[in-house]
Amino acid sequence: MRVAVTGGCGFLGSHLCEALLRRGDAVVCLDDLSTGRPENLAHLRSYPGFEFVRADVSVAVEVSGAVDAVAHLASPASPPDYLRRPLQTLAAGSRGTENALGLARRDGARFLLASTSEIYGDPQVHPQDEEYWGHVNPVGPRSVYDEAKRYAEAVSLAHHRALGTDVGIVRIFNTYGPRMRPHDGRVVSSFISQALRGEALTVYGDGKQTRSFCYVSDLVRGLVAMLDSSQTGPVNLGNPEEWTVQELAELVLDITGSRAPIRYEPLPVDDPVRRRPVITRAMEHLGWRPEVTVADGVRRTVEWFSAT
Ligand code: NAD
Ligand code: UDP
Repeated sequence: MRVAVTGGCGFLGSHLCEALLRRGDAVVCLDDLSTGRPENLAHLRSYPGFEFVRADVSVAVEVSGAVDAVAHLASPASPPDYLRRPLQTLAAGSRGTENALGLARRDGARFLLASTSEIYGDPQVHPQDEEYWGHVNPVGPRSVYDEAKRYAEAVSLAHHRALGTDVGIVRIFNTYGPRMRPHDGRVVSSFISQALRGEALTVYGDGKQTRSFCYVSDLVRGLVAMLDSSQTGPVNLGNPEEWTVQELAELVLDITGSRAPIRYEPLPVDDPVRRRPVITRAMEHLGWRPEVTVADGVRRTVEWFSAT
């Protein structure tokens, strides 16, 4: 296969490019380097099937030569990133998705949309399965991300229904691992880099809010399974292991052996109280389930952060 990966220089995108190249696919990575880093792909440049195109997908998605699949991951993803870039985030989810769908339509290619658990907002149903419509504040600060992704799902399904595009939507729950930027502001990367520097771990609110954390190798296996399938979804991809933020801080302190204190800071506006995926659909339709426990995954991530 020849696969176009938008956002391929980012955390998840770079792991996806690597997984595809390793199995023999050709990859065209499109990225504007707004939150991604070229060094994430430096080790892949020797693959003959690898190409990089610097481009803002909100403006255009142009690839010469046919592709068999388009994986659309380009979007800021960390809350501080998308809160700093509200208009670009809306553009990536709307025009960026339309442009990426246009490429899939041109070539009759499979289209994979990287959607998000933020579709569920601050969920009033727990855990969340794909039938749940969500509870999103449409005018709050996080709406630039949540509503952009909701539109991205809607326009993808409209292409599927109206134009017959072969669409697959995955809703990704909090994923972590090597190649996260240490200062991207997400909780796992923040806690690990703070602990390794001996700085206070910043727990927002009382730390009782929960998230379910998936290790990147598991998640990428799920992305590839969805790409290879003919499922439309949406399909939740995440690790149902649910942790409070306080428990995660304690785990990171334990694994790093750091004596850094915990400092409590205000909870961001509209921060979801709890989140855990139901993954029955992924298990039944993709034969996918996560394998790496949070303790193991955090240990591997700490090793990577320590070595870089
Ligand atoms: P990331 O910020 O590391 O990667 C995003 C990539 O997209 C970066 O390389 C960035 O430069 C690129 N990009 C952003 N806007 C662009 C544009 N307009 N044109 C071209 N490139 C652009 O984030 P990530 O964690 O790797 O997330 C990748 C995708 O997965 C995103 O769509 C995100 O919404 C989704 N997702 C991630 C998670 C997670 O926990 N990591 C959870 C849910 C959904
Ligand atoms: N969080 C925290 N300290 C940080 C960063 C995040 O306590 O330094 C909290 C945040 O308020 C949220 C959870 O950790 O409740 C997950 O945050 P993240 O930004 O990683 O992901 P998202 O909110 O998008 O799920």
